[in-house]
Amino acid sequence: MPVATPNYNRIQRFRLPRLCVALTGSEPAGLLQRAESMVRDNPFMEFRLDYFSQPAAALPKLKHFLDLHPEATVIATCRRAVNGGKFKGSIQSQLDILLKAAAAGFQLVDIEFQSAEGLKSEQYTDLRNRVGVILSFHDFKATKKLDDIFSGMSELPADFYKVVTTATNLSDNVTMMKFLQSHSGKHEMVGLCMGEQGIISRVLGVRAGSVFTFASAARGEETGPGQVAISELRDTYRIEMVEASTQVYGVAGDPVSHSLSPVMMNAAFRRETVNAVYLGLHAKNLKDLLACTNDIPLRGMSITMPYKEQIVAALSNSDPLTRQIGACNTVVRGQDGKLYGFNTDVAGIVSPLEQRMTLPGKRILVIGAGGAAKAAVFGLKARNAEVFVANRTAEHAQSLARRAKAKYVKRADLAKLNFDVIINATPLGMNGNRQSPLDEKELNTNYVFDLVYTPAETKLMKMAKAKGLHVIPGLEMFVQQGARQFEIWTGKPAPVAEMAYVVSKALEQRVSGETQEQPQAEEEPAAASHVAKPVKKASPAKAKHVLVKSGAKKSVRR
Ligand code: NAP
Repeated sequence: MPVATPNYNRIQRFRLPRLCVALTGSEPAGLLQRAESMVRDNPFMEFRLDYFSQPAAALPKLKHFLDLHPEATVIATCRRAVNGGKFKGSIQSQLDILLKAAAAGFQLVDIEFQSAEGLKSEQYTDLRNRVGVILSFHDFKATKKLDDIFSGMSELPADFYKVVTTATNLSDNVTMMKFLQSHSGKHEMVGLCMGEQGIISRVLGVRAGSVFTFASAARGEETGPGQVAISELRDTYRIEMVEASTQVYGVAGDPVSHSLSPVMMNAAFRRETVNAVYLGLHAKNLKDLLACTNDIPLRGMSITMPYKEQIVAALSNSDPLTRQIGACNTVVRGQDGKLYGFNTDVAGIVSPLEQRMTLPGKRILVIGAGGAAKAAVFGLKARNAEVFVANRTAEHAQSLARRAKAKYVKRADLAKLNFDVIINATPLGMNGNRQSPLDEKELNTNYVFDLVYTPAETKLMKMAKAKGLHVIPGLEMFVQQGARQFEIWTGKPAPVAEMAYVVSKALEQRVSGETQEQPQAEEEPAAASHVAKPVKKASPAKAKHVLVKSGAKKSVRR
């Protein structure tokens, strides 16, 4: 009997794209509508058949799509519920659906290692003869024992080996990338870490040896925790250009998911054609961050809360203002591999003011005594301004004023005093907080500079505008501190206008809800509640059983 020709032969001549868009839908019509809208720009897709109540019944409609779009390369996945999917049927029913998917024209099928192990060798061989096979393993809780898992998996022949785990810290990404590096010379590997902390592996995995990675069609349509929308992977992270010499930067903090720095800094790298990518680095502790900094390695970091002060001890050297302030928001790795620190929050506050006035002798009130206030007070004192500090906790303001040779003022005295500039360096007014740090009668000033930048207009800014005062939005600080970071890292002038544009656009979208977090797709939260069962290494007898027709590795080319 002639061996059936696998459908994926027709893609052998081409390299698979780096990005595969995972599509779901409770009905074939919905999924196909999405597929139609994506296929032109993203011809590599995964259809999650397990989301349908009757996957086999959906196949004729999917076949019609595949017939109409020979340019598309589509993976059929019908993940069993026990392995993190939605399909409640047996392994035999899963096999039946995957065989029907092959007959319908899918070029690749994804089958979990656990299911493949449960098949007879001739059944698995038959599946491989009909279609390209991605043998997959998922761990929804951790990233561990990857080599043990893979030694079991690799006893089964497959066209691609896909290992997807969960990052519980930044270093898990390094583990995943080392794993990919060590096996991608011999096998076609696909690997990534799920979770918010897995973004590093989603972007850098392709240069570590993952043939491709997965993306969602859009925000809110994720099929796995931490999955990134295809437009973001392509436009923000420029994943198609990431290669061995791409320099890696990131914003490190806890949390960082709402940071606009990746949008701003990646836009700057793109505009200035710098071969670099900038990631969100959600570090749960400094030790994890520093380990990751060395292992990836990171060329530079923006440091945000709560690490601005803690990082100082890990620096080999820093500029005098960073030492005075005791906080660092910018790290660069020198040629010697050592970490050097800067505080560009100072430039973020001083530059917007210097664009409007000469600072020596100006009377400037800073409200707050935290990190941003310290940058303002020391930075403005260094420019010979006359600086005043007021704060909720008097001792904090007194201590700061003493250290910086500024003047402490009581809140009760503010209504009697006049200033050139009042700077809000407290979180009052931020996000859902609709408070103002000062009352209208206390705004005796020419300028109000509100360091808060979400929302774009705070209550304080509204009050100041109503009073006819000049207002400087916190966005200017955000852009200027980022611009200075860009200059430190690249030695090039920063594309400030572009940076300001993308950040204000992103803020607008946030306000209009377009980029607000959506509830996650149904699959993974359910799936995340369990880990795919620990993998037993296939017994030699079983391995032999399935290896009957391993043959030469099939050549679906990258
Ligand atoms: P921080 O170190 O936590 O300091 C917060 C300061 O605000 C402290 O002095 C604190 O007073 C005071 N404060 C907190 N809650 C208050 C309340 N309910 N009423 C009155 N005072 C209150 O924070 P940070 O890093 O300095 O950041 C402060 C704000 O600056 C942030 O929320 C952010 O909006 C803004 N910021 C903007 C940028 C930018 O790029 N635009 C950059 C950094 C920061 P106590 O001493 O009494 O605790």
